[in-house]
Amino acid sequence: MRSCDSCTACCGPGLAVQGAGKASHENCKHLTAAGCAIYNERPTGCRVWNCLWLRELVGQESERPNRVGYFFDVVDPAKHGLGFNLLTVYEAWPGAFDDPAVQASLGQVAQKYPIMFPHQGRLVGPPELLKIIQTQSPILQEPE
Ligand code: SF4
Ligand code: SF4
Repeated sequence: MRSCDSCTACCGPGLAVQGAGKASHENCKHLTAAGCAIYNERPTGCRVWNCLWLRELVGQESERPNRVGYFFDVVDPAKHGLGFNLLTVYEAWPGAFDDPAVQASLGQVAQKYPIMFPHQGRLVGPPELLKIIQTQSPILQEPE
């Protein structure tokens, strides 16, 4: 079973966390060099949310987000109604997406799944699925 261990990637810029007062563009105010300062009392949102790596849906055991530089979430299918998985990806640290190794890894995932980069305004993936998203889903018109 996978564990977050020393990873705090999702506590940094990327996701908004309700209950922690964290906006998507900033570090959580509870994040310290030693990890979450309120770990035992952390909000429900932090307790229930798991990245796809932690859920064992992407990557190898060794590819924890704080090692590879990115983490994935999946958009609720009820929200886009496309009938296939639509991933979102976030940097584990600023500039991680500039790393050629990260680009190569994400390129491999994008051969199978469409991936949104919410903070970069990009969408990559299999061309046939991108076409469906662009014509059928209102999700790309939603503000981040
Ligand atoms: S990005 Fe994933 S592995 Fe890292 S702290 Fe968040 S849930 Fe845990
Ligand atoms: S409250 Fe703790 S676990 Fe939740 S986002 Fe902030 S630092 Fe991370």
